[in-house]
Amino acid sequence: FGYLYRRLGDVYGFKGPAVVEGGMGALGNALATSAMDRGVDIQTKARVGKINLSLDKVTGVTLTTGEDFRAKIVVSNADPKSTLEKLVGFKNLETGVVRRVSNIRMRGSAAKLHLALNGMPNFGGLTESQKGQRLLIAPSMNYIEQAFNSAKYGEYSNAPVLDISIPSVHDPSLAPAGAHVLSAIVQYAPHDLKGGWDSAREPFKNLVIERINQYAPGIKEQIVQSELLTPEDLEGEFNMTGGHWHHGEISLDQIMMMRPFPGASQYATSVSGLFLCGAGAHPGGGVMGLAGKNAAKEIIKWGKAA
Ligand SMILES: Cc1cc2nc3c(=O)[nH]c(=O)nc-3n(C[C@H](O)[C@H](O)[C@H](O)COP(=O)(O)OP(=O)(O)OC[C@H]3O[C@@H](n4cnc5c(N)ncnc54)[C@H](O)[C@@H]3O)c2cc1C
Repeated sequence: FGYLYRRLGDVYGFKGPAVVEGGMGALGNALATSAMDRGVDIQTKARVGKINLSLDKVTGVTLTTGEDFRAKIVVSNADPKSTLEKLVGFKNLETGVVRRVSNIRMRGSAAKLHLALNGMPNFGGLTESQKGQRLLIAPSMNYIEQAFNSAKYGEYSNAPVLDISIPSVHDPSLAPAGAHVLSAIVQYAPHDLKGGWDSAREPFKNLVIERINQYAPGIKEQIVQSELLTPEDLEGEFNMTGGHWHHGEISLDQIMMMRPFPGASQYATSVSGLFLCGAGAHPGGGVMGLAGKNAAKEIIKWGKAA
Protein backbone atom coordinates (compact mmCIF):
# COMPACT_ATOMS: atom_id res chain seq x y z
CA PHE A 1 0.00 0.00 0.00
CA GLY A 2 2.84 2.35 0.92
CA TYR A 3 4.37 1.78 -2.51
CA LEU A 4 1.11 2.54 -4.34
CA TYR A 5 0.63 5.62 -2.18
CA ARG A 6 4.06 6.90 -3.15
CA ARG A 7 3.34 6.28 -6.83
CA LEU A 8 0.21 8.47 -6.66
CA GLY A 9 2.26 11.42 -7.86
CA ASP A 10 2.74 9.62 -11.19
CA VAL A 11 -0.98 9.97 -11.85
CA TYR A 12 -0.59 13.74 -11.66
CA GLY A 13 2.52 13.73 -13.84
CA PHE A 14 5.17 14.30 -11.15
CA LYS A 15 8.36 12.50 -12.15
CA GLY A 16 11.56 12.22 -10.12
CA PRO A 17 12.51 14.42 -7.19
CA ALA A 18 11.10 17.91 -6.77
CA VAL A 19 13.80 20.14 -5.32
CA VAL A 20 12.95 23.54 -3.88
CA GLU A 21 15.41 26.21 -4.93
CA GLY A 22 17.19 27.48 -1.81
CA GLY A 23 16.34 24.32 0.16
CA MET A 24 13.13 23.27 1.93
CA GLY A 25 13.32 26.30 4.22
CA ALA A 26 12.71 28.48 1.16
CA LEU A 27 9.25 26.92 0.75
CA GLY A 28 8.30 27.78 4.33
CA ASN A 29 9.64 31.31 3.85
CA ALA A 30 7.65 31.75 0.62
CA LEU A 31 4.44 30.60 2.32
CA ALA A 32 5.11 32.84 5.33
CA THR A 33 5.80 35.88 3.13
CA SER A 34 2.61 35.29 1.19
CA ALA A 35 0.58 34.96 4.42
CA MET A 36 2.15 38.07 5.97
CA ASP A 37 1.38 40.05 2.80
CA ARG A 38 -2.26 39.23 3.54
CA GLY A 39 -2.02 40.49 7.10
CA VAL A 40 -1.22 37.25 8.96
CA ASP A 41 0.83 37.68 12.14
CA ILE A 42 3.33 34.80 12.54
CA GLN A 43 5.23 33.97 15.72
CA THR A 44 8.06 31.45 15.55
CA LYS A 45 9.90 29.89 18.51
CA ALA A 46 6.54 29.95 20.29
CA ARG A 47 5.57 26.52 21.63
CA VAL A 48 1.92 25.90 22.38
CA GLY A 49 1.61 24.23 25.78
CA LYS A 50 -2.16 23.96 25.95
CA ILE A 51 -5.28 24.26 23.82
CA ASN A 52 -7.94 25.91 25.98
CA LEU A 53 -11.60 24.89 26.05
CA SER A 54 -14.85 25.99 27.53
CA LEU A 55 -16.93 22.80 27.79
CA ASP A 56 -16.53 21.29 24.30
CA LYS A 57 -15.59 24.53 22.50
CA VAL A 58 -12.11 25.80 21.82
CA THR A 59 -11.31 29.21 23.30
CA GLY A 60 -7.64 29.65 22.35
CA VAL A 61 -4.14 28.51 23.25
CA THR A 62 -1.57 29.12 25.96
CA LEU A 63 2.12 29.13 25.06
CA THR A 64 4.67 27.39 27.26
CA THR A 65 5.76 30.90 28.29
CA GLY A 66 2.28 31.39 29.78
CA GLU A 67 1.14 33.86 27.12
CA ASP A 68 -2.56 33.43 26.24
CA PHE A 69 -4.22 33.84 22.86
CA ARG A 70 -8.00 33.78 22.59
CA ALA A 71 -9.56 32.38 19.39
CA LYS A 72 -12.78 30.79 18.15
CA ILE A 73 -10.85 28.55 15.78
CA VAL A 74 -7.58 26.71 16.45
CA VAL A 75 -5.95 24.82 13.58
CA SER A 76 -3.19 22.38 14.47
CA ASN A 77 -0.58 20.73 12.28
CA ALA A 78 1.02 19.09 15.29
CA ASP A 79 0.28 15.37 15.00
CA PRO A 80 -3.13 14.13 16.21
CA LYS A 81 -1.74 12.53 19.38
CA SER A 82 0.20 15.67 20.32
CA THR A 83 -2.82 17.82 19.60
CA LEU A 84 -5.45 15.78 21.38
CA GLU A 85 -3.50 14.01 24.11
CA LYS A 86 -0.85 16.56 25.08
CA LEU A 87 -2.43 19.91 24.15
CA VAL A 88 -6.17 19.32 24.69
CA GLY A 89 -5.67 16.60 27.31
CA PHE A 90 -7.42 13.24 27.35
CA LYS A 91 -9.36 14.24 30.46
CA ASN A 92 -11.26 16.72 28.27
CA LEU A 93 -12.28 14.17 25.64
CA GLU A 94 -14.85 11.38 25.46
CA THR A 95 -13.60 7.87 26.15
CA GLY A 96 -14.33 6.75 22.58
CA VAL A 97 -12.17 9.54 21.15
CA VAL A 98 -9.40 8.81 23.66
CA ARG A 99 -9.40 5.15 22.60
CA ARG A 100 -9.22 6.01 18.90
CA VAL A 101 -6.42 8.54 19.37
CA SER A 102 -4.48 6.09 21.55
CA ASN A 103 -4.80 3.43 18.86
CA ILE A 104 -3.23 5.51 16.06
CA ARG A 105 -0.04 3.69 15.08
CA MET A 106 2.86 6.12 14.87
CA ARG A 107 6.06 4.27 15.68
CA GLY A 108 8.69 6.02 13.56
CA SER A 109 11.26 3.84 11.84
CA ALA A 110 12.86 6.24 9.34
CA ALA A 111 16.07 8.13 10.13
CA LYS A 112 17.65 10.91 8.10
CA LEU A 113 21.33 11.20 7.17
CA HIS A 114 22.78 14.52 6.02
CA LEU A 115 26.26 14.73 4.51
CA ALA A 116 28.20 17.81 3.44
CA LEU A 117 30.70 16.64 0.79
CA ASN A 118 33.71 18.36 -0.73
CA GLY A 119 32.84 16.98 -4.19
CA MET A 120 30.38 14.93 -6.22
CA PRO A 121 30.17 11.36 -4.88
CA ASN A 122 31.20 8.72 -7.35
CA PHE A 123 28.09 6.54 -7.72
CA GLY A 124 29.15 4.14 -10.47
CA GLY A 125 27.17 3.76 -13.68
CA LEU A 126 25.04 6.90 -13.39
CA THR A 127 24.49 9.38 -16.19
CA GLU A 128 24.71 13.09 -15.35
CA SER A 129 20.92 13.43 -15.15
CA GLN A 130 20.57 10.29 -13.02
CA LYS A 131 22.78 11.90 -10.37
CA GLY A 132 19.91 14.29 -9.72
CA GLN A 133 17.33 11.51 -9.32
CA ARG A 134 16.39 9.66 -6.15
CA LEU A 135 18.89 6.85 -5.76
CA LEU A 136 17.43 3.80 -4.06
CA ILE A 137 19.56 1.19 -2.39
CA ALA A 138 17.02 -1.62 -2.11
CA PRO A 139 18.34 -4.44 -4.29
CA SER A 140 15.40 -6.82 -3.77
CA MET A 141 12.08 -7.31 -1.95
CA ASN A 142 13.87 -9.79 0.27
CA TYR A 143 16.46 -7.16 1.19
CA ILE A 144 13.70 -4.71 2.14
CA GLU A 145 11.89 -7.31 4.21
CA GLN A 146 15.07 -8.25 6.05
CA ALA A 147 15.84 -4.57 6.65
CA PHE A 148 12.42 -4.23 8.29
CA ASN A 149 12.73 -7.44 10.32
CA SER A 150 15.32 -5.88 12.63
CA ALA A 151 12.99 -2.98 13.44
CA LYS A 152 10.28 -5.42 14.51
CA TYR A 153 12.64 -6.59 17.26
CA GLY A 154 13.75 -3.10 18.31
CA GLU A 155 17.04 -3.22 16.41
CA TYR A 156 18.34 -1.11 13.55
CA SER A 157 18.95 -2.68 10.15
CA ASN A 158 22.48 -3.81 9.46
CA ALA A 159 21.74 -3.50 5.74
CA PRO A 160 19.28 -0.58 5.58
CA VAL A 161 17.17 0.59 2.67
CA LEU A 162 18.45 3.97 1.52
CA ASP A 163 16.61 6.64 -0.43
CA ILE A 164 19.36 9.06 -1.41
CA SER A 165 19.19 12.45 -3.07
CA ILE A 166 21.81 15.05 -3.88
CA PRO A 167 19.76 18.28 -3.98
CA SER A 168 22.81 20.44 -4.79
CA VAL A 169 22.79 18.89 -8.30
CA HIS A 170 19.63 20.94 -8.93
CA ASP A 171 20.44 23.92 -6.72
CA PRO A 172 24.16 24.82 -6.53
CA SER A 173 23.36 27.53 -3.93
CA LEU A 174 23.06 24.75 -1.33
CA ALA A 175 26.84 24.15 -1.20
CA PRO A 176 30.08 26.01 -2.00
CA ALA A 177 31.32 25.75 -5.61
CA GLY A 178 32.23 22.14 -6.44
CA ALA A 179 30.87 20.83 -3.13
CA HIS A 180 27.60 18.93 -2.60
CA VAL A 181 25.02 18.03 0.01
CA LEU A 182 23.56 14.55 0.20
CA SER A 183 20.53 13.50 2.16
CA ALA A 184 19.29 9.97 2.71
CA ILE A 185 16.15 8.54 4.24
CA VAL A 186 17.37 5.50 6.13
CA GLN A 187 15.06 2.60 6.89
CA TYR A 188 14.71 0.94 9.28
CA ALA A 189 15.63 2.62 12.56
CA PRO A 190 13.02 2.02 15.25
CA HIS A 191 12.06 4.86 17.59
CA ASP A 192 12.23 2.53 20.59
CA LEU A 193 15.64 1.05 19.94
CA LYS A 194 16.71 -1.64 22.40
CA GLY A 195 19.33 -0.02 24.64
CA GLY A 196 18.42 3.49 23.41
CA TRP A 197 19.89 5.71 20.71
CA ASP A 198 22.51 7.57 22.77
CA SER A 199 25.18 4.93 22.31
CA ALA A 200 23.82 3.64 18.98
CA ARG A 201 23.52 6.86 16.94
CA GLU A 202 27.20 7.08 15.96
CA PRO A 203 27.68 3.35 15.13
CA PHE A 204 24.49 3.39 13.04
CA LYS A 205 25.59 6.53 11.19
CA ASN A 206 28.95 4.90 10.42
CA LEU A 207 27.21 1.72 9.23
CA VAL A 208 25.03 3.76 6.85
CA ILE A 209 28.04 5.67 5.52
CA GLU A 210 29.89 2.36 4.98
CA ARG A 211 26.88 1.10 3.03
CA ILE A 212 26.81 4.19 0.80
CA ASN A 213 30.57 3.87 0.35
CA GLN A 214 30.01 0.46 -1.26
CA TYR A 215 28.00 2.19 -4.00
CA ALA A 216 30.00 5.43 -4.11
CA PRO A 217 33.59 4.41 -3.33
CA GLY A 218 35.60 7.15 -1.67
CA ILE A 219 32.61 9.06 -0.30
CA LYS A 220 33.90 8.55 3.24
CA GLU A 221 36.92 10.72 2.43
CA GLN A 222 34.70 13.43 0.89
CA ILE A 223 32.68 14.04 4.07
CA VAL A 224 33.14 17.48 5.62
CA GLN A 225 30.20 17.24 8.05
CA SER A 226 27.67 14.54 8.86
CA GLU A 227 24.51 14.27 10.92
CA LEU A 228 22.06 11.44 11.56
CA LEU A 229 18.60 12.21 12.92
CA THR A 230 16.87 9.21 14.46
CA PRO A 231 13.09 9.04 15.04
CA GLU A 232 13.86 9.92 18.66
CA ASP A 233 15.66 13.10 17.50
CA LEU A 234 12.76 13.97 15.18
CA GLU A 235 10.32 13.57 18.06
CA GLY A 236 12.45 15.76 20.34
CA GLU A 237 13.04 18.49 17.77
CA PHE A 238 9.66 18.65 16.04
CA ASN A 239 7.31 17.22 18.67
CA MET A 240 6.25 14.34 16.39
CA THR A 241 4.87 11.55 18.55
CA GLY A 242 6.93 8.40 18.00
CA GLY A 243 9.14 10.36 15.57
CA HIS A 244 6.91 9.19 12.73
CA TRP A 245 7.77 11.13 9.58
CA HIS A 246 4.14 11.15 8.39
CA HIS A 247 2.52 11.81 11.80
CA GLY A 248 1.11 8.27 11.71
CA GLU A 249 1.63 5.19 9.58
CA ILE A 250 0.13 5.41 6.12
CA SER A 251 -1.64 2.09 5.86
CA LEU A 252 -5.04 0.92 4.61
CA ASP A 253 -6.65 1.27 8.04
CA GLN A 254 -5.17 4.75 8.65
CA ILE A 255 -5.98 6.58 5.43
CA MET A 256 -8.96 8.31 3.81
CA MET A 257 -12.02 8.35 6.12
CA MET A 258 -9.95 6.50 8.75
CA ARG A 259 -7.26 9.20 8.99
CA PRO A 260 -6.43 10.22 11.62
CA PHE A 261 -9.30 8.15 13.05
CA PRO A 262 -12.97 7.56 12.26
CA GLY A 263 -14.96 10.60 13.35
CA ALA A 264 -12.21 13.16 12.67
CA SER A 265 -11.57 12.54 8.99
CA GLN A 266 -13.07 15.85 7.86
CA TYR A 267 -10.40 17.83 9.74
CA ALA A 268 -12.84 18.87 12.50
CA THR A 269 -12.37 17.20 15.88
CA SER A 270 -14.89 16.49 18.63
CA VAL A 271 -13.84 19.85 20.13
CA SER A 272 -15.89 22.51 18.37
CA GLY A 273 -13.55 24.95 16.57
CA LEU A 274 -10.46 22.71 16.74
CA PHE A 275 -9.22 21.46 13.36
CA LEU A 276 -6.33 19.26 12.25
CA CYS A 277 -4.47 20.28 9.09
CA GLY A 278 -1.18 18.35 9.09
CA ALA A 279 0.26 15.09 7.85
CA GLY A 280 -1.74 13.13 10.43
CA ALA A 281 -4.91 14.08 8.55
CA HIS A 282 -5.96 12.75 5.13
CA PRO A 283 -4.22 12.38 2.66
CA GLY A 284 -1.17 12.05 4.89
CA GLY A 285 2.44 13.14 4.82
CA GLY A 286 4.70 14.49 2.14
CA VAL A 287 5.30 18.11 1.25
CA MET A 288 2.14 18.57 -0.81
CA GLY A 289 -0.10 20.77 1.32
CA LEU A 290 -3.26 18.80 0.56
CA ALA A 291 -4.28 18.20 4.17
CA GLY A 292 -3.93 21.95 4.78
CA LYS A 293 -5.88 22.86 1.65
CA ASN A 294 -8.71 20.46 2.48
CA ALA A 295 -8.77 21.64 6.10
CA ALA A 296 -9.00 25.29 4.96
CA LYS A 297 -12.04 24.44 2.82
CA GLU A 298 -13.73 22.69 5.75
CA ILE A 299 -12.97 25.59 8.11
CA ILE A 300 -14.48 28.09 5.65
CA LYS A 301 -17.62 25.91 5.40
CA TRP A 302 -17.77 25.62 9.21
CA GLY A 303 -17.30 29.38 9.61
CA LYS A 304 -20.17 30.13 7.22
CA ALA A 305 -22.48 27.73 9.04
CA ALA A 306 -21.55 28.91 12.56
C1 LIG B 1 13.24 12.02 7.72
C2 LIG B 1 12.11 12.56 6.89
C3 LIG B 1 12.19 12.54 5.51
C4 LIG B 1 11.15 13.00 4.74
N1 LIG B 1 11.27 13.00 3.38
C5 LIG B 1 10.29 13.51 2.62
C6 LIG B 1 10.43 13.62 1.21
O1 LIG B 1 11.48 13.29 0.66
N2 LIG B 1 9.41 14.12 0.49
C7 LIG B 1 8.25 14.53 1.08
O2 LIG B 1 7.35 15.00 0.38
N3 LIG B 1 8.09 14.44 2.43
C8 LIG B 1 9.07 13.94 3.20
N4 LIG B 1 8.92 13.87 4.55
C9 LIG B 1 7.60 14.13 5.13
C10 LIG B 1 7.29 15.58 5.29
O3 LIG B 1 8.40 16.26 5.84
C11 LIG B 1 6.09 15.71 6.23
O4 LIG B 1 5.02 14.90 5.79
C12 LIG B 1 5.61 17.16 6.28
O5 LIG B 1 6.63 18.00 6.76
C13 LIG B 1 4.41 17.26 7.18
O6 LIG B 1 4.04 18.62 7.25
P1 LIG B 1 3.19 19.13 8.45
O7 LIG B 1 3.09 20.62 8.31
O8 LIG B 1 1.94 18.36 8.54
O9 LIG B 1 4.00 18.77 9.77
P2 LIG B 1 5.47 19.16 10.21
O10 LIG B 1 6.33 19.48 9.04
O11 LIG B 1 5.90 18.10 11.17
O12 LIG B 1 5.23 20.52 10.99
C14 LIG B 1 4.65 20.55 12.27
C15 LIG B 1 5.26 21.75 12.95
O13 LIG B 1 4.57 21.98 14.15
C16 LIG B 1 5.51 22.29 15.15
N5 LIG B 1 4.92 21.97 16.45
C17 LIG B 1 4.61 20.74 16.94
N6 LIG B 1 4.09 20.86 18.17
C18 LIG B 1 4.04 22.20 18.45
C19 LIG B 1 3.61 22.96 19.57
N7 LIG B 1 3.11 22.38 20.66
N8 LIG B 1 3.73 24.31 19.50
C20 LIG B 1 4.22 24.92 18.40
N9 LIG B 1 4.66 24.24 17.31
C21 LIG B 1 4.57 22.90 17.34
C22 LIG B 1 6.71 21.42 14.83
O14 LIG B 1 7.88 21.92 15.42
C23 LIG B 1 6.73 21.52 13.31
O15 LIG B 1 7.47 22.64 12.89
C24 LIG B 1 9.97 13.48 5.36
C25 LIG B 1 9.90 13.54 6.75
C26 LIG B 1 10.97 13.10 7.51
C27 LIG B 1 10.88 13.20 9.02
